[in-house]
Amino acid sequence: MVTMEQLVSLCKRRGFIFPSSDIYGGFQSTYDYGPLGTLLKNNIKAAWLRAVVQERDDMEPLDASILMHPRVWEASGHVAVFNDPLVDCKACQGRFRADHLWLIVASHGEETKHYPIEAGEEEEALAKGRETHQIGKRWDVTAVPMVIDSPDGTPKLCPSCGGAESFTEPRAFNMMFQTQVGPVEGNITYLRPETAQGIFVNYENVLVTMRRKLPFGIAQVGKAFRNEIVTGNFTFRTREFEQMEIEYFCWPEDGPRVHQEWIDTRLAWYERYGIARENLDLYEHPDHKRSHYSTRTVDILYRFPIGFAELEGIANRTDFDLSQHAQFSGKTLDYFDTKSERRVVPHVVEPSAGVDRNVLAFLTEAYVEEELLDQKGQKSSRTVLRLHPALAPIKAAILPLAKNRDELVACAQGLARELRPHFQVQYDDTGAIGKLYRRQDEIGTLYCITVDHQTIDEDGQVTIRDRVPQ
Ligand SMILES: [Zn+2]
Repeated sequence: MVTMEQLVSLCKRRGFIFPSSDIYGGFQSTYDYGPLGTLLKNNIKAAWLRAVVQERDDMEPLDASILMHPRVWEASGHVAVFNDPLVDCKACQGRFRADHLWLIVASHGEETKHYPIEAGEEEEALAKGRETHQIGKRWDVTAVPMVIDSPDGTPKLCPSCGGAESFTEPRAFNMMFQTQVGPVEGNITYLRPETAQGIFVNYENVLVTMRRKLPFGIAQVGKAFRNEIVTGNFTFRTREFEQMEIEYFCWPEDGPRVHQEWIDTRLAWYERYGIARENLDLYEHPDHKRSHYSTRTVDILYRFPIGFAELEGIANRTDFDLSQHAQFSGKTLDYFDTKSERRVVPHVVEPSAGVDRNVLAFLTEAYVEEELLDQKGQKSSRTVLRLHPALAPIKAAILPLAKNRDELVACAQGLARELRPHFQVQYDDTGAIGKLYRRQDEIGTLYCITVDHQTIDEDGQVTIRDRVPQ
C-alpha cells in the first residue's frame, strides 16, 4: 500500500498538490492544488454533482457566500459551542487540546508507570501508549483522561517535554476565523466553518422558487474554514478546506429511512468511482459523541495511508437547524402540505463529504507500483494512477515519436487541436517515448496516442495505448 510520503512526493513532482506559499517555505498546513490536482479535484466535484443533482429528480444545487450574517452562527450554535478547551505547557510552549490528553497507566505488581499521550480517543491513546513506550505484555495497561483542572491524584504530565504540573488552566478557543466587515471596527463576522448553514438559510428560497415539495434536497460545494489546533497528515486536516454537502429535507417520520438510504447511496458512489468496498468502512457514532440534536450519525471511513479515517459524515440532524433559524430570524420555516393540511418543520439528513479528503482517497486508491519486464527481459518498475476515467485529469496524451520531423510534429499538433474541444489533452514531446509513457502512467492518463514515421509515410494511422483503467 502507498505511504503518505510516496503520495506527497508524487503530488509535488507531478503538479497535483504544492505546499502553499512554497517560495516562502510553505505556510501552516496550507496547500495549493497544481494544474493536475485542480483538474482531478474539479472532476471529483463534477462526478459528485452529477450523481447527487443531475441524475436525481429531488435535488437542487446552490452556491452560497462564505461571509454570512453573524446571527447565523449564533443560531447554529457555533458561537457558543464551537470551542475547544486548550492548554499550554509553560515549560516547552507546547499547546494541546485538553480533551485529547491521556495518561497511560501501566502497572506490574507493585510497580506503576505513567506515560502522557495526546490522542482523540481512548483506544487510540492505548495503542499509541503501548507502541511508543513499548510496554511489555505482562503489564496491565489502561488509559485514563488527564483532567488538567481536577485534583484527582493522577500526575499531569506534558506529552512533549514530560514536564510535571506545567500546564496552564484550560481555556476555550473558538475555532471560527473572525473577520472585520467594512471599515467600521467591531463590525465582525466569520469565515463559515461549514457550508451547511448557507443551505439552511436558503431553504425557503429554494422551496418556493423551484416549486418543491417534501422530500427534496439541496447540494453545495464550497470552501469552509476552521482554526484547528492540530493539523497535519498532508491535506487530511487543514484549516481551509472544501466540502461537498447535502441537506435533505423530509417528513419527520421518514428521517431514519432517508438517513439509511443516503448512507447506501454515498457508499455506492465511492464504489462507482473505483474505491474498493474493503477499503471503506462505516463508523456508527456512539451516543456520547453525537451532537445533542442528532439521532444518528454514521461516518464513511476510508483506508488512508494513516489508517481508516473519516471521508464523509452522514447525520440525521432532525429539525434542529430550521427550528433554530426560525427562532433567531423570526421567520417561519414551517412546511405546509396543502393536500393533507399538515404543517411541520422538516427533518434534515446531511451527507457531508470533504473534497480534499476525497482527492486524497482517490489518489491513495489509484496509486500502484508495478514490476515490468521489458523486451530484453530487464526488470523495471512503473508508478500508475489507476484513476476512474471520469476522474483522470488528462484523458489523452499526444506523443510525437520524433520532434525533428516537421510533418510528424504538424500531424501530432493537429490531432491535439482536434481533440481539445472534447476532453483534456496533453501534448508532450520532451523525452524518449518510454519516458513519456511512464510520465503519463504516473498521472493516470487514459490513452497515449503516438504519431510515428509510419503515420506520415504509410498509413496515416496512430498507435493508441490504453492505460487499462481498472
Ligand atoms: Zn511541555
